[in-house]
Amino acid sequence: MVINLSLLNQIEWFDKNSISVGPACTLKKIYENIIPRGKYLPGGSCQSVGIGGLTLGGGYGLTSRCYGLTCDSLLEATVVTASGSIINTKDDPELLWALKGAGNGNFAVVTEMKFDIQKAPATMQSFKFRNTNTGIKAAKEICRQWFALSKTLPVTCFSAFIFNGRTTYILLTNIGKNDTSVKHFIDNFKLSSTKYTQGKLLPLGQALKAYYAEKIPITFKNASAGLYKNFEEIEPVIEQVFDLIKKKPGILYQVNTLGGKIQSPLLETNSAFAHRNCTYFSELQAYWQSPSASKGFLDHFELIQQQFANAGIQAQYRNYPDVNFKNWARMYYGKNLERLLAIKNKYDPGNMFGGPQALKV
Ligand SMILES: Cc1cc2nc3c(=O)[nH]c(=O)nc-3n(C[C@H](O)[C@H](O)[C@H](O)COP(=O)(O)OP(=O)(O)OC[C@H]3O[C@@H](n4cnc5c(N)ncnc54)[C@H](O)[C@@H]3O)c2cc1C
Repeated sequence: MVINLSLLNQIEWFDKNSISVGPACTLKKIYENIIPRGKYLPGGSCQSVGIGGLTLGGGYGLTSRCYGLTCDSLLEATVVTASGSIINTKDDPELLWALKGAGNGNFAVVTEMKFDIQKAPATMQSFKFRNTNTGIKAAKEICRQWFALSKTLPVTCFSAFIFNGRTTYILLTNIGKNDTSVKHFIDNFKLSSTKYTQGKLLPLGQALKAYYAEKIPITFKNASAGLYKNFEEIEPVIEQVFDLIKKKPGILYQVNTLGGKIQSPLLETNSAFAHRNCTYFSELQAYWQSPSASKGFLDHFELIQQQFANAGIQAQYRNYPDVNFKNWARMYYGKNLERLLAIKNKYDPGNMFGGPQALKV
C-alpha cells in the first residue's frame, strides 16, 4: 500500500515567525508564499521537492551553512501512527528529535509540520568557474584547491565542485557580503579557469529560481557518494573515481559544502541528523534518455561508490538513498541508530511502515 499525501499541501501562517505546512507542499509553493513577505525557510534548491521528505531526511541547500538544515527549523509535527492514533510531537519530544533527519517512512505518517521562519536574506549572488578539457590529474588539483579555499568561506556562502569527466565546474553563491575570503576565492579560480561568470546581485526570490531545475520528468539517478571532513579522506581514491566518471559520459560527481551552523552543538542535540561533523557532502548524478542505458549507469554508480567505500567513507545522506548501500541504516543514521530503533519499536512495533530501506525492529 502506498499512501498518497499529495492533497496535504496547504500553507497556513501561525504568526509572523511560523507557518504550518502539509508534507506535500513543494519548496516552490512555500518560497512563493513566504519570500515576498520577507520570510525564509532554509531548504534545498529544486522547486519540485516536497517539504515532507526533504525535512524528514535533513534538508540541505544553498543557505544551510548560515541557517542550518531544513529539519532544524521544524518546531513540531502531527503524525498518524501505525495503530491509527494522531499524535503531536509536543507530547513526545523524542519523536520530534527522530523526525528531524531520520523520519522518512520510518515511524509514522507526518500530516502537518510547523516551521520556524526567519527574516529572508535580501539578495543572493552566484559565481561560476569552468575548466574545459580537464584531465584527471588537473581535475584532482582543482578539487584539492577547492577543498582548501572553500574552507575559508563565510557561512553566507555555499560552494560546489563538479566533474563530469571532461569539465570541472565550481559554483559559489553568497547571501552576504563578498568579504576578503570570498574575493580571494573568486580571484583564485577566476585566474585558473577557462570561463568565469559573475551573476548579478539579485533579490533572493529571483536568484533562487536559477536553481529550480527541470519542470518535467526526466530519467536520472542521484545518489549519495559520502560525507567527509576534508580532501585527504578521498585523496587515495579520487583519481580512480575521476577515471570511472570519464569512462561513462553522462555521470557527474559533485561535492557540496556543509559546515557552518549545521555543526552547532545545540542543533546536533536536537535532531537525529547524524553527520554534522562532516563538512562536505558528495553525490553522483547521471542523466540518460534510453531505458536500455539504465543498467550501465546503475552498475557504474556501484563501481564509483565502491571506491569511496575502499577509502573508508561510511557516512551517507538519507535523502540521496541508494539500494547499493548494504549497511544503509548505519550509514544514514550513524551513532543514532539504536536510539531510532527504540522509537521505531514504540510507534511501529509491527513494521507496518516498510520499504527496502525503512527501519525494522
Ligand atoms: C530534483 C531533486 C532535487 C533535490 N535537491 C535536494 C536538495 O537540494 N537538498 C536536499 O537535501 N535534498 C534534495 N533532494 C532530495 C530530496 O530531499 C528527497 O528526494 C526527499 O525525500 C524528497 O521528499 P518528497 O516528500 O518530495 O519525496 P517522497 O519521494 O514523497 O518521499 C521520500 C521519502 O520520505 C518519506 N516521506 C515523505 N513524506 C512523508 C511523510 N509525510 N511522513 C512520513 N514519511 C514521509 C517517504 O516514505 C519516502 O521514504 C532532491 C531531490 C530531487 C528529486
